[in-house]
Amino acid sequence: MSASATDLLELSGAGAIEAASAGSVTAPELFDLYRERAVEHGGPDGLNCFTWVAPEAPEGVPVDGPLSGVPLAAKDLFCTRDVPSQAGSRILEGYRPPYTATAVSRLIDAGAPLLAKTNQDEFAMGSSTENSAFGPALNPWDRTRVPGGSSGGSAAAVAGGLAPWALGTDTGGSIRQPAALCGIVGLKPTYGAVSRYGMIAFASSLDQAGPLTRDVTDAATMLAHMVGQDPCDATSLAFPEQIAMPRAEKLDGVRLGVPAELLHPSAELDAAALQPGVRDAFDATLALAERLGAEVEEVHLRHAEHALAAYYLIAPSEASSNLARFDGVRYGMRAPDVDDLLDMYTRTRHDGFGAEVKRRIMLGTYALSAGYYEAYYGRAQRVRTKIAEDFRQAFAGVDFIVTPTSAGVAFALGEKTADPWAMYLNDYFTVPMSLAGIPALSLPCGLSGDGDGPGGAGLPVGFQIAGPAFSENRLLDAAFALEQAIGFDGSPARV
Ligand code: GLN
Repeated sequence: MSASATDLLELSGAGAIEAASAGSVTAPELFDLYRERAVEHGGPDGLNCFTWVAPEAPEGVPVDGPLSGVPLAAKDLFCTRDVPSQAGSRILEGYRPPYTATAVSRLIDAGAPLLAKTNQDEFAMGSSTENSAFGPALNPWDRTRVPGGSSGGSAAAVAGGLAPWALGTDTGGSIRQPAALCGIVGLKPTYGAVSRYGMIAFASSLDQAGPLTRDVTDAATMLAHMVGQDPCDATSLAFPEQIAMPRAEKLDGVRLGVPAELLHPSAELDAAALQPGVRDAFDATLALAERLGAEVEEVHLRHAEHALAAYYLIAPSEASSNLARFDGVRYGMRAPDVDDLLDMYTRTRHDGFGAEVKRRIMLGTYALSAGYYEAYYGRAQRVRTKIAEDFRQAFAGVDFIVTPTSAGVAFALGEKTADPWAMYLNDYFTVPMSLAGIPALSLPCGLSGDGDGPGGAGLPVGFQIAGPAFSENRLLDAAFALEQAIGFDGSPARV
């Protein structure tokens, strides 16, 4: 190995591909380097960002493929053959599926060996990883704080330099918000762009797999090997064009829309508490975009304020149905010493699911029950349609819609666990795009200044850019131009 280990760990995924192609490191060397680091810093005594680390380099990965042996971390909820896939839940403890999720197998087939599975909120329900049955992951910028969620383990691993890049899933913000809180890039693709086959389902009409990476180029690199129709997922679609490597340096003529309803004072926004340091970093990024040639204007998403309310009916409704399969018969744990079948079902679910999952199953079951279906679920679906229409109308006038990714910077462990509504408000800016099924990316845009609560200064802030369905190439290009101009330094987060 001619390059030093520290030099190699500094590399982005694309940088590591280049180093491997140039012969300055071999795929097995790269794997061992990351494996050692993952074992040393990724477990319960470290960032607790991994639930499993490969005991050795997996066989059969074509490391001469386009991803050149650069190792991959995948969120626990991706089924990975013969490897624990537990979705952060006791009820799936020790479950090793007989097959691998399409998103993962495509990356493996392109030459990225599976290094580790990452910690997450149980069944992807949460915004901090504190709902994981395996304890919370920690934010590498400040270990007394959460890394965000639900893909918090993936974000912490990448920000902490324990994995070159990682896969996450986003149902209402679970890629973008942890990426924002950890100072990395997170992309939620268009719904259907990436197969959901083998993803342990939370809310099927919203779940999407996507990359969490050190930079925009890596997000494009991973995405290029993830997209495409899959016969195993009937909602997957052929991506209409090749994913290109982003190159733009300017934003000339690009129109950015700032949604009035999400950014002007309102009761909900007030509750979501847009922190002054986040607002400042967001405004500074808008000014920078203008200097790059973009036009910034106000747009209206008249129903976006109701997105959270609709999401917290639709997602739990789908979850209550998806989670019915965990009954102790087919997967994972089964309660011992039971009286009869019904007792086995109820005790398994009582012992296996955590509090947040139970809360959502109850909410969802209630919303779907005969007498209330129209009043709750039906109405939420109508709001969802309105929100999708709002976006369509807005995109007639602007290319992208931009917001802060999260109203606040990484919060302290335990700060919001007793208040589910405070936790749900983390998704204020990300949920509208999920309901509309459109792609959105979170880009680190700076560090918060003073005034963001005790110790809140110096933590990363995320800038969210959303575009119409299948606009990923343009979205990545715009994000790339901004990224170069911002020059964000993520290195302080490396452990
Ligand atoms: N935080 C949101 C929730 O708890 C979003 C989670 C997600 O995107 N998986 O539902």
